[in-house]
Amino acid sequence: MLDDMIDHLEGLSGQPAWRPVPADALAVAREAVPVAPTDLASVHASFMDAILPYAGGNLHPGFMGWVQGAGTPVGMLAEMLSGGLNANLGGRNHMPILIERQIRDWVREIFAFPATADGLFLTGTSQANFVALLVARTRICGAAVRQVGVTKAPRLVAYASNEVHGCVPRALEMAGLGSDALTRVATDAAGRIDMGSLRAHIRADRAAGLTPFLLVGSAGTVNSGAIDDLDALADLAGEEDLHFHIDGALGALGMMSPEIAPLLHGIERADSLAFDFHKWGHVPYDAGFLLVREGIWLKETFASPAGYLTRAETGLAAGGDWPCDIGPDLSRSFRALKTWFTLKTYGTQALGAAMAANCQLARVLAARIAAEPDLELLAPVALNIVCFGYAPDGVGGDGAINRAIVEDLHNAGRVAPSLTLVKDRPAIRAAFVNHRTTADDLDALVEGVLRFGAGHSSRR
Ligand SMILES: *Cc1c(COP(=O)(O)O)cnc(C)c1O
Repeated sequence: MLDDMIDHLEGLSGQPAWRPVPADALAVAREAVPVAPTDLASVHASFMDAILPYAGGNLHPGFMGWVQGAGTPVGMLAEMLSGGLNANLGGRNHMPILIERQIRDWVREIFAFPATADGLFLTGTSQANFVALLVARTRICGAAVRQVGVTKAPRLVAYASNEVHGCVPRALEMAGLGSDALTRVATDAAGRIDMGSLRAHIRADRAAGLTPFLLVGSAGTVNSGAIDDLDALADLAGEEDLHFHIDGALGALGMMSPEIAPLLHGIERADSLAFDFHKWGHVPYDAGFLLVREGIWLKETFASPAGYLTRAETGLAAGGDWPCDIGPDLSRSFRALKTWFTLKTYGTQALGAAMAANCQLARVLAARIAAEPDLELLAPVALNIVCFGYAPDGVGGDGAINRAIVEDLHNAGRVAPSLTLVKDRPAIRAAFVNHRTTADDLDALVEGVLRFGAGHSSRR
């Protein structure tokens, strides 16, 4: 199995980034419950034939869609060890928990958070944003909100930019506050939250008797990688007494790069910060993390004494606070191990350099687009994401053509950008996250867009 996977990783560029699942592979996902045992070698053969070739493509050098990590061989091996260990990190007194705390201490240092900060692994930033929202709710309402619920609370309202990731309004839905409680503030030409509008919204809401409690900044918006003015948001949150949360899913780990870190100035002032080791950190899925400025806020939000979780002075039930006291999960995998292996084996310097190289590719692509009469840049390039369109004279960035181009590119399998809307206009979106992506892939993207675009234009 190891030989096969290492061969697979070595041979990625010779394979398509994506291909549709054929009928014989599909049959493998439509079998009856396996009542009788199957030989392990035959199960593995099914994996090799029907699963491995038809995965989502995010390891491939030509993959530039959405925002996805590319993994590493080191992370893969750590996953094997972690599976063998089968540790449960909900609590108790053992070394795997201490490794998770080691990662917490490292991120505390990377993001210059105080020694009182605490945090934990969660599935991803969607979940980390949700947990942060619950922390903010407990801070404003007091811990009694856990018993009496939000219906007795003042009408809580939150703020983020209109470029905020969709999991933030959904977090308000899941918390029972409703997504209408989120004001999506206008953004400037660079995709950053407009501070004047934000102040005006807060003022108007207070005048209307609502209770502003949460301000969410983006350290890399999902569409274009824009980074809000984190210092200005921290100042305002201080003045207005709001919980200041940062969605850093995509960009926060840029702190590992001396080139990117200055763009994130102010990140150290957040009350809570969500980010994903499984994106720019390339730790295998899933490995989201939430870091909270005061650990006590997490405890006040989640700790629930239970007889069957009684703590002891010594022995396996010792260890003081357990992760289940600071988050929603009791059964938790050893996400820390693959993160520990990745950070130690590569070091933050090399990981940061790979992120900086991604940003450089984005700038090169933006320059290519500027020089190419048939292509149009649709959003400023702040980080590692380029939104553009095929817009030859007379066609004017036709949405249907750009959609068709992306489908053609996926089906051809050489490169895989994704689609988005920029100011309601369909755009081709290339997010450079993958450490395997090179200038060759960028050439293939530009060449493919022009070729498929010309084909569609001539058919009109
Ligand atoms: C990916 C992403 C999320 C969601 O994170 P998951 O780890 O996929 O749950 C949230 N915000 C931004 C900006 C993202 O890029």
